Amino acid sequence: MMKIKKGIPLIDQYDKNFMWGGKFGGNFVPETLKKPIDDLNRLFEKLRKNKSFIKERDYYFKNYVGAPTPFIKLQNLTNYLGGAQIWAKVVSENPGTAHKVYNVLVHCLMAKYAGKKSVCTDTGAGMNGKNTAMVGKMLGLKVKIFMGLVDIKRQKKNVDVMKKYGAEVIPVTTGSQTLVDAVSECMRYFVANCDSTHLVVGSAVGPAVWIRICAWSASQISRELLVQIKDEFGKIPRKLKLLNCIGGGSSALGFWNEFIDYDKKQVELIGVEAGGSKKSKKHAAPLTNGSKIGILHGSAQYVIQDKDGQIGETESISAGLDYPGVSAIHCFLKDAKRARYTSATDEEALNAYKLVTKFENISPSLEPCHAFAECIKIAPKLSKDTVLCINSCGSSLKDADIIKSKLGYYTE
Ligand SMILES: *Cc1c(COP(=O)(O)O)cnc(C)c1O
Repeated sequence: MMKIKKGIPLIDQYDKNFMWGGKFGGNFVPETLKKPIDDLNRLFEKLRKNKSFIKERDYYFKNYVGAPTPFIKLQNLTNYLGGAQIWAKVVSENPGTAHKVYNVLVHCLMAKYAGKKSVCTDTGAGMNGKNTAMVGKMLGLKVKIFMGLVDIKRQKKNVDVMKKYGAEVIPVTTGSQTLVDAVSECMRYFVANCDSTHLVVGSAVGPAVWIRICAWSASQISRELLVQIKDEFGKIPRKLKLLNCIGGGSSALGFWNEFIDYDKKQVELIGVEAGGSKKSKKHAAPLTNGSKIGILHGSAQYVIQDKDGQIGETESISAGLDYPGVSAIHCFLKDAKRARYTSATDEEALNAYKLVTKFENISPSLEPCHAFAECIKIAPKLSKDTVLCINSCGSSLKDADIIKSKLGYYTE
């Protein structure tokens, strides 16, 4: 079994091949990407120790993102389910309305420190694109966003917002014309333009250094949560469970980071993948549906594949979880048995949306509704001194159309 070292950040627990547990991550990239990767590694190692960089990062986290985001008790839902106490960290309460803003902010600041005037990025549902366009505009950077043509059509509202912020949206017409292809295309563009452009990868995926930067940036969430939990309970509760949906997995890594070293009997980490549609049997759950290790976007990971080893088709009601791979660090946490992974179907996520919005004044997007679905399953069976905390990492506003078409209503 793989082993996690205590006292060392997860992002630093890689070997000489930049792999976690000897199996996951790495840099499976063309020769032309090796130097830009080395440069970015050096820049990251320098900046994470640079006091003025950290000060600037924290300035934006506080004054622009609005840190700390709220930590609230869902008392009505708790009463209704009749077991564990249910709490939410409402990360979506920030101008970018999702956790992506942390990674984007750090990358854009890094670009500035490196003297680069433009950034490129990929987007699927458009949340990463929107955040990069927004932060890029604030920091005076030129922003190029690669997006599959299929996604451009179904996420038109987000595309309009990206353009409003002055970003250039480049349609990707290869492959399935969705996020997987957008990431590939964006990486190709970066290889050819890396002297002037900085690459923002939208989750904790890609070659190792992007995984590390993304997880490091998102860990702001758990730094806040640790303080909020200690304020509320006076200490870390004896039975705490942290539930998070898993797409690429950056929001979960950010939500869990400060809690990794606690005993798993005290702090259980639960990741919920997209179980997809019961009808089509397609899903986006490589960790829970027995996927094999493969290489995707420069990194070894559990990845959904067809019988020939080609990247398999995925399906999920939540665009943000609809990715065939998953962060190498989650693969490591799974094999080390530090986190437990499970999945929720489209239907379960929708039912969770119904229940949460019926009882509470928060309106989570369909991604965190996957985590709420697991909470709804387990809470009634747990004791009242168990604390369940869900990362409500997105707002339902972006899902208004799909929720309305499925449930027949949507109210803000
Ligand atoms: C992108 C996105 C996700 C998936 O995030 P990962 O960090 O890649 O797991 C989940 N929820 C929302 C709201 C998103 O925008």
